[in-house]
This record gives sequence, C-alpha cells and structure tokens, in this order.
Amino acid sequence: MSKITLAIVKPDAVKAGNTGAIIDHIIKAGFKVKAMKMVRMTKESAMGFYEVHKERPFYGELVDFMCSGPCVPMMLEKENAVAEYRKLIGATDPAQADEGTIRKLFATSKAENAVHGSDSDENAKLEVAHFFSRGEILSNG
Ligand code: GDP
Repeated sequence: MSKITLAIVKPDAVKAGNTGAIIDHIIKAGFKVKAMKMVRMTKESAMGFYEVHKERPFYGELVDFMCSGPCVPMMLEKENAVAEYRKLIGATDPAQADEGTIRKLFATSKAENAVHGSDSDENAKLEVAHFFSRGEILSNG
C-alpha cells in the first residue's frame, strides 16, 4: 500500500474562499502536505489529467470546469493515503456524501464538488507527476 495521494482543491472551492478550511480538514485528519501549489490549469493539462474520463458524456464540462479558475493540487502523505483521503472527502455527489466529509461541507453539486482525490496508488503516482517535479516535493519533514 502506497502512502501518497494527489488531492486538488478545485476551482469552485478556491473561488468560494474555502481553500484554507479544506487544507485544515486535511491536516487535522493526519495527512502531511508534501507538495502544494496554486495553478490555473490549461485546457491541454486538464484534458490530459482526466484522459481516463474522455469517453464519458461530461468530459468537456469537466475540463472546462477545471480550467475555470485557479486550483490547488497537493501531494499528501499518510498510511493507506488513497483510501483514507477518499473516506475524508466523501462520495462524488455531495448529496450522497457522509456528514462531516469535505464534499458534504463544501461541494455544491456532483460536478462542482470542491476536491479531487486519486482512486488508486497507480493513478496517485501519475497524478503527482502531472503537477510536481521531483524538486517540488519535500523529501522529509
Ligand atoms: P471522483 O473520483 O469521486 O472525483 O468521481 P469520478 O471519477 O466519477 O468523476 C470525476 C469528476 O468528474 C468528479 O469529481 C466531478 O467533478 C466530475 N463529474 C462526475 N459526474 C459528473 C456529471 O454527471 N457531470 C459533470 N459535469 N461532471 C461530473
């Protein structure tokens, strides 16, 4: 089991001023932030990041949403990080998300759902590499 996952505070949550509150939840849940930046994704970057969803009907909407403003990708570390972080954020649709989860607290719809989380160890590695070079990741501390 890998100890890392890739989280993103998505443009809706950044725009709403919830970046700090979301990072606070993440840290209080025991994750260490090993890398973080604020970026505005280009269309090309968002299309690449969500390539796995390219056959889904909402792909175009998803790409446009992710480019609609700045977002905050982070590499997080914790034992069993992928599963633990997905538990912390809750279901894709905030209406289905458990009480106290980040999406229940901050998401407004299934599309604009405040945060991203990797769905496997393999994708976590690829997604971290999408945003961060080796020198941008803390090696200790
Ligand atoms: P996740 O792993 O919980 O983020 O969910 P998915 O992998 O199923 O979907 C990826 C992302 O696509 C979600 O986090 C949403 O931002 C977006 N998404 C999912 N379903 C829909 C939809 O029906 N319409 C739109 N516009 N976006 C969606």
